[in-house]
Amino acid sequence: PPALDVTALRADFPTLRRTINGHPLVYLDNAATSQKPQVVIDRMNRFYTEEYSTVRRSIHLLSAKATQAYEQTRHLVAQLINAPEARQIIFTKGTTEGINLVAHGYGRKFVGAGDEIIISATEHHANIVPWQMLCEEKGAHLRVIPVDDRGELILEAYEKLLTDRTRLVAVGHISNALGTIHPVEEIIRLAHAQGVPVLVDGAQAAPHMPVDVQALDCDFYVFSGHKTYGPTGVGILYGKAAWLERMNPFLGGGDMIETVTFEKTTYAPIPHKFEAGTPAIAEVIGLGTAIEYMRRIGLEAIAAYEHQLLEQATERLLAIPGVRIIGTAPRKAAIISFVIDGIHPHDIGTLLDQEGIAIRAGHHCAQPLMARYGVPATARASFAFYNLPSEIEALGAAIEKTIAVFAL
Ligand code: PMP
Repeated sequence: PPALDVTALRADFPTLRRTINGHPLVYLDNAATSQKPQVVIDRMNRFYTEEYSTVRRSIHLLSAKATQAYEQTRHLVAQLINAPEARQIIFTKGTTEGINLVAHGYGRKFVGAGDEIIISATEHHANIVPWQMLCEEKGAHLRVIPVDDRGELILEAYEKLLTDRTRLVAVGHISNALGTIHPVEEIIRLAHAQGVPVLVDGAQAAPHMPVDVQALDCDFYVFSGHKTYGPTGVGILYGKAAWLERMNPFLGGGDMIETVTFEKTTYAPIPHKFEAGTPAIAEVIGLGTAIEYMRRIGLEAIAAYEHQLLEQATERLLAIPGVRIIGTAPRKAAIISFVIDGIHPHDIGTLLDQEGIAIRAGHHCAQPLMARYGVPATARASFAFYNLPSEIEALGAAIEKTIAVFAL
């Protein structure tokens, strides 16, 4: 892939021009959420200033145009992840809602007492709690693929967990806490060999690598707009049409029906069956612009550049005595979780903030995973294509300064 002109790309992001505590902002919290390019902000502003209307319900011109722009995003998402048809793309509020939708729509219908759902030890709470709630309601059981010391899933153990009671496998594509890129192709192949569908939580993958849902052959794929350089309040659920058509709706209300009487309601065809109520119209349209922006840069080029950042940052951090990286799998995205002997991650985060460096400190919504590595929390630096080698150097220097302060 072609090298990125990162300096030029950074100019697209107004927040990156900010200073924080007297220092240029070094934004390394991209796994939590990404900054927004001006084109996305402008597109949403233009929609609100000149084009604002609702979608689907009205026949006047503004509404027709809004509907067209809204549906255009569905096509752009389908292209982005190589979905066969745009109707397989459902707009949600985010990854969390997408998983909850499947837990309700699929889970309530196809999971019963004594059945099993498989997740992994590295999951975000968004891919744990909905399944626990479902299991509690149905008398089903949660099974967990274990993770090794480096942060890789133990596939031999996974194969043993797959049984004729398994109704669904739900795994993250990339761990938000460790950065491991999981072998989802293999996980899906093994599940399908037993006739079990697979949901992939792609929150950390969609913004950072090419995703092809047909090549993966996943049954469901979910991600969030706000991590893919788009707005908050919008996310994506991709599903195989055969599943989406058989599933129960999630929310009931306007726009998801075909006919309503007090005796019986029939539902609209997909995707509308799953889009009750007035959606986040401006956000969906802004997401379309974000996807076009990302695709202009190219996901291959983004992945290659971010991998260089990962290698540089790993080397820089490992050179600092007392720093330990949690998550050392060979296949990683540009996320580094680390701990420093004798310094709480929150103190690391606070001191780095003094230098204008934004990282995340905490359990990363993955408490079971923190427990697995015997830490209550980690500090996490996560990168995007707009980060610079000089920012990694700034991170390294600020960590050294932090250690020096604590040594006093
Ligand atoms: N899964 C993963 C792997 C994540 O990183 C996140 C966000 N941190 C989520 C799910 C939840 O995404 P959202 O808060 O946008 O619904």
